[in-house]
Amino acid sequence: MKYIGVDIGGTTIKLGVIEDATILFVHNVPTIKKQVIKGTIAGIHELLQHAGLSLSDIQGIGLTLPGPVFDNQVSYLPNIELERLDVYQAFQEAFAGKPIVMLNDANAATIGEISKLSMPVKDAVMFTIGTGLGSGIVANYQVVEGANGQGGELGHVTLHSPYNFKCGCGKRDCAETVLSAKGIRRLATVLKPSGATKITKSSNVKQIFNQAKLGDAFALDVVNEWAKYMAQLVLQLNVITNPSVVIFGGGVANAGEFLLAKIQEAYDNAVVLPSDKRLTMRLATLGNDAGMIGAVHACMQENL
Ligand SMILES: [Zn+2]
Repeated sequence: MKYIGVDIGGTTIKLGVIEDATILFVHNVPTIKKQVIKGTIAGIHELLQHAGLSLSDIQGIGLTLPGPVFDNQVSYLPNIELERLDVYQAFQEAFAGKPIVMLNDANAATIGEISKLSMPVKDAVMFTIGTGLGSGIVANYQVVEGANGQGGELGHVTLHSPYNFKCGCGKRDCAETVLSAKGIRRLATVLKPSGATKITKSSNVKQIFNQAKLGDAFALDVVNEWAKYMAQLVLQLNVITNPSVVIFGGGVANAGEFLLAKIQEAYDNAVVLPSDKRLTMRLATLGNDAGMIGAVHACMQENL
């Protein structure tokens, strides 16, 4: 059975025809201010045309948006300007009769990644480490949206750190200020190298991880410091929803097994309670497709 997955981002709207978690056809359209819904609806029709399909071949539509979404509702989106806020109604009008599910992008990515694990997982958390620190929590098989859609926004949990970095949300020491790509670069500017290093103030995150892999002592200090605070955040999850699996995705997680091993090492050093050891860490596998696949998975589950 075919579904349409849509990932509405700040610059691009990704659309795909998805069957059994496999993307059969894709189509991208630009995100245009105040024409986001219109552009998405047109994009869906173009996608169907490219795929040689009609709406009657489609069982449902799963959509993601970059901001708080709860119960298919949006109150504001920080990164894109919509022409109207009753997005769900707009899509229902355009695709009358089709089941539609709308989710926050990080929550959808979490559902997508969990659906790819070898067994069903009751409690899990996923971090998307990129420009910011996105996250999604699944508890009792349900994604946590909360009363206003802010549930699971772990990037804004306050860390116990000496940095006092200011966050875009207005608070200080939010997890995102240290753990995002920007945070890693900030660490590289505030920490002091003790010897020779290839890391400069303009080094990007990829260069920092690559140099750490090659044994550059200062790059390793930066990565270890980052991993220490990621471990601190993961450790706190045990007293929030106690996940059995934590998944790391996003551009920064392209550093791969090295990154995972660093977080695991820092986590093992931070663990006090024996029960904290019963937590598995994994790398995400779906890349930029996780949101579309997760949104479709949620749509399928709701319409079984
Ligand atoms: Zn914040």
